[in-house]
Amino acid sequence: MRNASLQQDFREASSASAEWEARGRVVMPIASSRAIAFHDPYPLTVTRAEGSFLWDADGQRYIDLASNMYSLVHGNAFPPVVQAAAAQLAQGSAWPANNTAQIELAEELVARLPAVEKVLFCNSGTEAFSLALNIARGQTGRHRFLMAQGGYHGTMWDTNLGGRAAPGPVHFSAPYGDTAAFLSVIEQHGDEIAAVFLEPVLGSGGFALPPAGFLRAVYEAARATGIVFVLDEVISFRLAFNGAQGALDFAPDLVMLGKVIGGGFPVGGVGGRAELLAVVDPAAPRALASGTFSGNPVTMAAGLASVRALTPAAIAHIDRLAQLLEAGLQAEAAAKSLPLHTRRVGSMLGLFFYDPGQAPVFAASRPDAAFTQELHLAMLLEGLFPLPRCAMTTTTVMTAPLIAEVVQRFGRALARVGSLV
Ligand code: PLP
Repeated sequence: MRNASLQQDFREASSASAEWEARGRVVMPIASSRAIAFHDPYPLTVTRAEGSFLWDADGQRYIDLASNMYSLVHGNAFPPVVQAAAAQLAQGSAWPANNTAQIELAEELVARLPAVEKVLFCNSGTEAFSLALNIARGQTGRHRFLMAQGGYHGTMWDTNLGGRAAPGPVHFSAPYGDTAAFLSVIEQHGDEIAAVFLEPVLGSGGFALPPAGFLRAVYEAARATGIVFVLDEVISFRLAFNGAQGALDFAPDLVMLGKVIGGGFPVGGVGGRAELLAVVDPAAPRALASGTFSGNPVTMAAGLASVRALTPAAIAHIDRLAQLLEAGLQAEAAAKSLPLHTRRVGSMLGLFFYDPGQAPVFAASRPDAAFTQELHLAMLLEGLFPLPRCAMTTTTVMTAPLIAEVVQRFGRALARVGSLV
């Protein structure tokens, strides 16, 4: 790191986290199970979270701009979610039989998402990817899949890091937004491909919107070749009351879900056309959908409270706050003559200290990586808790005065980092 005093300040401010990190390293490879949340010199150990705030093991308070990677759209310990989960917990937490909460959550999702006639639950977005692929394999009898370079559908296949972009035994990839490249893979290998996976908006790939007509063109080519088209709405569900699919008036075959539909508990889901989901019917199974904790009643009750509170007015509120945040951060950067480029999609905001154009962003190769790494530490020192690479998101429990405070603290963090080169 260029600015060693920042690391020193961070170590001094977070000595209890340092102790937990050292203790954790004895028994875990990185003192955590979440590599994406890792940063130098060590991530904070958080001991409490409520509303818009997190507290670390040293008792310091941070404004939570990460929302557990976009999953806590109502902030931490949102009272309706806490009440729903606690009520269910007191009635027991898991059993290998049906439960009422998952049926109520399924009803809510089917009512909201135009492409979802039936839905199944699992425990993460990563699992939703596996489940969708199993369903597509069961339906088509084919094995391979196609996804975007710059796309992220969980830890099984990460082309966002750029490392696994080459075709492998089970997957093909093409650049996100490049219709011709997708159509060419489909034309050459369509009869081997069970499913194509695409995000409606890149999340981890840097909030890039595809060119108009991209999703539909790939969908039509997939359809014509018998490939199942899977739209990954794990992040984008929060963008519109009927999901991105509703906003885009686009009906994929299958939809991956996760994050906010679990109210802060581990969750994933796959929805879509009834005839496709029928491949998991035990009466004539072509794919197995099961899991000890799938459709867990506590998660489902929490998820139902979270989804119900994500009304059109709530979505308008988080979008408006993110717009305020974007304008405020721009003004702070301009005052320090720093070239801040923002990409905002609804309530999610990416920061780039170079012009990323329209293309997907590969985290490992960002030219501003050293600067954003320092800014991240400086933001922590100023009591702000962003996502990796300083991305941010708003929640329904935030207010305009809180955003003003974030902007002020961001200005102080920029001053700590200094120049870009
Ligand atoms: N799909 C998208 C678009 C995501 O952003 C993520 C996680 O960030 C996933 C899938 C994987 O979800 P999970 O982390 O719950 O496995």
